[in-house]
Amino acid sequence: MKTAIVIGHYPKKQGAFSEYFGMSEFTFWSNLVAVSGLAKDYEIFTHEILSGYPARQRAMGAKTKDYDLVIELHFNASNGIGNGVEAVYNTKNERMKKLAVKFMESICENTGIKKRYPLGRDIMDSNQRGTGFLRYTKGDSIILEPFFGDNKSDCLKFEKLGAKGFKTIIDELVDYYCSWI
Ligand SMILES: [Zn+2]
Repeated sequence: MKTAIVIGHYPKKQGAFSEYFGMSEFTFWSNLVAVSGLAKDYEIFTHEILSGYPARQRAMGAKTKDYDLVIELHFNASNGIGNGVEAVYNTKNERMKKLAVKFMESICENTGIKKRYPLGRDIMDSNQRGTGFLRYTKGDSIILEPFFGDNKSDCLKFEKLGAKGFKTIIDELVDYYCSWI
């Protein structure tokens, strides 16, 4: 059983910016995988510097084709008021629905960050963000967004959990996945 962890976005377009943490999604997760120990226990992937979202997702699909589980890390952002944990998966993938629920429950129990949707967010519509990643990855794939980077209360709660605490949640998530595949 092989798990790949993908840093969302890429150096040229780093995703949302968190005023609280003073960094973008790409920098935030690049740092966190290093300091948490995730990079020691899992294969970490970053997107190729290719123009066009579909091209980058196809390249990621090719790089991760031998992995059973592919997790992409993001944080959410909206208007400063929006808050909560989300996990995004393909509607047809019942295994990833289970994993989404487990992830949101773990984040909620360990930080107090609320679950935005009881079953995570399932997508099929090709216009929705994240669809390419879920479509081009061959194994089970899921997008994790534990908090809103532009919501101070979410950021404080995630900061309290810390990098090591987040790694524990990922380790438990992977163990849970292993227990039923
Ligand atoms: Zn993102």
